[in-house]
Amino acid sequence: MTDLATRTAALIREHLAAPHERVHAQTSAHLNGKFVESLHLLGYLRDFVSAQGIELVDARGRTYLDFLAGYGSVPLGHNHPAVAAAVKAAIDAAVPHFILMAPEALPAALAARIAALAPGELSMSFFMSSGSEAVDGALKLARAVTRRPRFVAAQRGYHGSTFGAMAVTGDPRLEIFEPFGPRTLVPWGDVGAIEAALKKRDVAAVILEPIQAEGGVNLPPPGYLREVARLCTKYGSLFILDEVQTGLGRTGTWFTCEHEGVVPDVMVLAKALSGGLVPISAYVTRPDLWRKAYGTLQSCELHCTTYRGGPLACAAALATIEVIDTLGLATRAHTLGEQLGRGLRAATAGHPLVREVRGRGLLWGIELATSKDGVAASLIAQWLVVNLLEKGIVTQVTTLSQNVIRVEPPLTVEPAHLDQFVTALREVLATQATGTLASLVGLGKQLIKQRLDAWRP
Ligand code: PMP
Repeated sequence: MTDLATRTAALIREHLAAPHERVHAQTSAHLNGKFVESLHLLGYLRDFVSAQGIELVDARGRTYLDFLAGYGSVPLGHNHPAVAAAVKAAIDAAVPHFILMAPEALPAALAARIAALAPGELSMSFFMSSGSEAVDGALKLARAVTRRPRFVAAQRGYHGSTFGAMAVTGDPRLEIFEPFGPRTLVPWGDVGAIEAALKKRDVAAVILEPIQAEGGVNLPPPGYLREVARLCTKYGSLFILDEVQTGLGRTGTWFTCEHEGVVPDVMVLAKALSGGLVPISAYVTRPDLWRKAYGTLQSCELHCTTYRGGPLACAAALATIEVIDTLGLATRAHTLGEQLGRGLRAATAGHPLVREVRGRGLLWGIELATSKDGVAASLIAQWLVVNLLEKGIVTQVTTLSQNVIRVEPPLTVEPAHLDQFVTALREVLATQATGTLASLVGLGKQLIKQRLDAWRP
């Protein structure tokens, strides 16, 4: 290594060993102070310094089971050696990065691998870095193919944070970013509302998740997705399925649309594709649609981005698919999901604060109900999440339904970890049942005290 390389490597090690007070101060000054403050107020602030597999380790040396798994983007656990080895192999081969002006081996191999896995005729991929970007790419494809303006999406559907993705995200808080362009948000599961929108024949695409993840782990009513696909064909609109959180084994099959016997016109992938190491996303579509949108010498580069499948990202994705395939992790997610579902149901049965437990494979939600004393379900959910953290389990509520706790471990989770989760949940709920209000009042007092302490000069 050159002197400079030795120095930069040492620099990274130094930063990683920085005292957490400095990390908090820099985050507050230069990234997002309110975020740090909110973690602190909730009692959720931890300094995670290392991670291997499902285990996270904090600065005090305490270990936690990661049942959030980067919202699904750490499918093989942290720092999976097979993904790291693939990325290192690409670095050691001194491949050119972001050359853009030539066909490249790793994106080509990854696109071919995805084509072989994806259902139906989905065989053309376009790579990007984030789920939001891939959703935007899919929406653009739909406009280019149909030359229609409108998008139809579901309330509480989450598709991302870029302008296109926000436009189809069913979150009323995003109102401050309007206008988005023509869109219709319909209730999840309501086929009639979708048909009413499609009948106007100005709809470029309907976009849905096969299971609403951030919306509260909402499963589709039987036959819903198949019917939407049929209606899209009937009215000349594209059907986009956003498998950013559900794809690549999470729910017990390679893609969740397979459960429903549906092949969309466009499928969106991200999160798990990264192997938890290098961000990468994709939309995957049929050759005829791709040709219609971009199939001329003038238009073939009309949708482009610099990071459209960098070699390290593609190496991580190829390795991730290989590991999921070799270890049969999709089938395993199905089997473990049955165990998890049974455990969650048994631990919560008859509990006055649990309204429902639902999920598929290794994506589950525990929906909490408002207490008899009127304590908001979202507050109870946060109380539960913090108590689980105290018991060494990391999880969080879903973004658009904050009364639902998600259970989303890496696909490599062991049966014993699932038992640990269920036991911890049972224990926390037992305290909850007897001391709900007292605990919540206690939490409220603690929050107020912390606020006052922070405010006092
Ligand atoms: N679609 C779905 C279904 C998602 O869950 C997410 C992220 N939670 C996104 C899109 C956006 O992905 P990203 O955060 O990588 O932009």
